Amino acid sequence: AKQEGRRGIRVFDTELQSEVRRGAALEQELREALRKDEFVVFYQPQMDLASGKIRGYEALVRWERPDAGIVQPMEFIPVAESTGLIHEVGERVLQRACQDAATWLDGGTVAVNLSPAQIRAEGVVERIARILGETGLPPERLEIEVPESVLLGQAPDALANLDALKALGVRIAMDDFGTGYSSLAYLTRFPFDKIKIDRSFVAQLSEDAGVATIIASIIGLGRSLSVDITAEGVETQEQMTMLRAAGCRTVQGFLFGAPSREIKEPVAGSEEPVI
Ligand code: C2E
Ligand code: CA
Ligand code: CA
Ligand code: CA
Repeated sequence: AKQEGRRGIRVFDTELQSEVRRGAALEQELREALRKDEFVVFYQPQMDLASGKIRGYEALVRWERPDAGIVQPMEFIPVAESTGLIHEVGERVLQRACQDAATWLDGGTVAVNLSPAQIRAEGVVERIARILGETGLPPERLEIEVPESVLLGQAPDALANLDALKALGVRIAMDDFGTGYSSLAYLTRFPFDKIKIDRSFVAQLSEDAGVATIIASIIGLGRSLSVDITAEGVETQEQMTMLRAAGCRTVQGFLFGAPSREIKEPVAGSEEPVI
């Protein structure tokens, strides 16, 4: 029994150690990637259902490794967050996204994801203001996407920063709405400009009548609070039709375009409808 116990502990130690080693190795690689400027930004269109035109793009970070190809954010954002490197990675994304969006001829918004730690960080408002100044992007063309969990815990800092960003003219969107607890309570604590309905709801739309009811009531809520609603993860014509019938005005998903390095059309104004 003693031997088994010892063996048990050794197995655990070994697994833990290798996990820690992997994490540490990835941290080093992320530092290298920052130094070599290997983070790139992909853009996914956000469609206006009424006009069928693109009204903006969401910026989604990718790590382009010279030998290993494109690494998805889920594989490095958590380590960037736990090591604090997210601040530097996030600033690069903001810089690139604002720089690109400033070249989109007829305007349109660019939506950038910020991790909770970024929203709570001291100086984040000044950094974003500086980036807007340097790139010449008007503040109202930048939208910050924050998960509702950002208002948990050290909420006073987050709230103060979101208020200050809003005062600058930057738009604030609540991401992944419906996946956390007491989403409705959060809505009354901060005046969001937009709610993004999580794609897990959209995915169940055709099979589950209850989900359709939930989505319809979120859209109704948005209307009464004067908050824009975007549904994410729209993959089928059927989902689009149901969302349109429920009164949803903006949609995003593979049906309209996957995230890509080059934007399809920059504008919300002049060109032909794409849907
Ligand atoms: P998110 O903000 O919810 O972004 C939407 C994710 O859904 C993206 O995954 C996008 O590629 C994917 N998606 C879009 N349309 C569809 C669809 O029709 N069907 C399905 N199944 N998926 C769709 P991605 O790019 O891998 O990003 C994953 C997450 O990583 C994001 O989720 C966001 O939380 C985080 N992330 C991405 N870029 C950044 C960033 O620059 N900073 C921070 N802090 N987080 C980021
Ligand atoms: Ca997002
Ligand atoms: Ca989302
Ligand atoms: Ca999501």
